[in-house]
Amino acid sequence: MIEPAEVVARLEALRALDAPTHGGRLLSYVYDSGRPELDDVAAAAVRAMQPVNGLDPTTFRSVGVIERELVDFARGVFHADDEVVGTATSGGTESCLLAVKTARDAWRARGGRGMPRLVAPTTVHAAFRKAAALFDLELDLVPVDPATGRPDAADIAGRLAPDVALVVMSAPSYPYATLDPIPEVATAAIEAGVDLHVDACIGGFALAFWPEHAAGAPASPWDFAVPGVTSLSADLHKYGYAPKGVSVLLQRGRDRQRHQWFATSAWPGYPVVNPTLLGSRSAGPLAAAWAIASVLGVAGFRELTASMAASTEAIVDAVHAIDGLTVVGRPTGPMVALAADASVPAERRVDPHLWADEMRVHGFVVQLQPASVQPDRSMLPSTAHLTITPVTEQVVDDLVVAAAAAADAVRGMPHLDGTALAAGLLGGVAPAGTIDSATAVAILGAAGLLDPAGLGPLAPVLSLVEALPPALVERLLIELLAAGLER
Ligand SMILES: *Cc1c(COP(=O)(O)O)cnc(C)c1O
Repeated sequence: MIEPAEVVARLEALRALDAPTHGGRLLSYVYDSGRPELDDVAAAAVRAMQPVNGLDPTTFRSVGVIERELVDFARGVFHADDEVVGTATSGGTESCLLAVKTARDAWRARGGRGMPRLVAPTTVHAAFRKAAALFDLELDLVPVDPATGRPDAADIAGRLAPDVALVVMSAPSYPYATLDPIPEVATAAIEAGVDLHVDACIGGFALAFWPEHAAGAPASPWDFAVPGVTSLSADLHKYGYAPKGVSVLLQRGRDRQRHQWFATSAWPGYPVVNPTLLGSRSAGPLAAAWAIASVLGVAGFRELTASMAASTEAIVDAVHAIDGLTVVGRPTGPMVALAADASVPAERRVDPHLWADEMRVHGFVVQLQPASVQPDRSMLPSTAHLTITPVTEQVVDDLVVAAAAAADAVRGMPHLDGTALAAGLLGGVAPAGTIDSATAVAILGAAGLLDPAGLGPLAPVLSLVEALPPALVERLLIELLAAGLER
């Protein structure tokens, strides 16, 4: 036996290993409202619901009530009419998975046979790749304009046919914060009789409250105000400021939405009726999201969002003033992707990955996104990704200074080319994807990626990701994370 206090002390010591979750210096993964009182009410809500099982809202009626109220709040936010119904899920991935499963089963119910297609821009969130893999849909990815990150509505419309179970648009996309052409695609989807999901997982609860004429405001309607939108996902554990584990999935059409559910009474145990993928489920994050939304109300969300709009504009303006670095496209909402400015000579360009590593020296952690090849062979650029939250306001002046200093430090340095490194590591290795665990570990070790002290600069790692075949990278990444759990 160990004293509870000792266990908690160990937990706090382990937490010290983490990136800082508060204060605005980590610009991904966490969504800090900058309001400690919201964290406090969320913690109280989690504590109150700790013993409850969300599996059965007839036994735990509190869960049914808060879920209904939270879904109703979301329905109001996203212009849903009486035909729109919804459920809370454990997160964005689960919402996206369920949107795809529902569409596939609705398509089958309409007489669809064989393997349906899922049409989406290449920038669609990875959760839809997972959904296609899990639920057996063929992913039909439409290239976006590498300069703007925007798909062409006509390209998407051209792919719609009776074998398409679902088309997915993002509001906005994660990689480049692009608002996809939702009204145009919705019109085409209605005409083709195809369901349309709007993935507002990250942006939903920010775009809905964005100051109307501010930079980064959505240029066109994107939610249930658009006829033809059949479902929409929005994560409360992102810009709903709740702890991880809560999202909402809204669907148009009661009968259509019932394809989301699973029920069986044909086993010897209790009848199982699940609206989501999980069985037993925590009501803690749900209650926390409900509590935060109740405290904030629409006015509170607007206030927090106005702060993000101002911070985002300040960051975009600052990047425009930095020679050699540029903002990709026209970001909508509180995110930006930065790329090297190809319009200036190489000696003035700022490589986004080297810049991101340099930002860490200045105390800011930003994400690195690899260059990638689209199905039409066009290249999407290497970028750095910043997620802005209300707390950013508290550090935005420092961030702008750091961004300029980091650019000065790496300007003119070429993007790391991982080709030679990749070839050296691969010497004699079997084709992509077919290597075993021991070989993968050997490659990771040779690349210096198994250092127990953690990863150093990330630009070299991303250069490898860019140089190796995707299937091999995926195998290595699995091994990297698995190794962390196993040794
Ligand atoms: C975060 C995100 C998801 C997936 O959400 P998780 O909560 O991480 O599972 C889906 N779509 C978009 C656009 C996202 O940003």
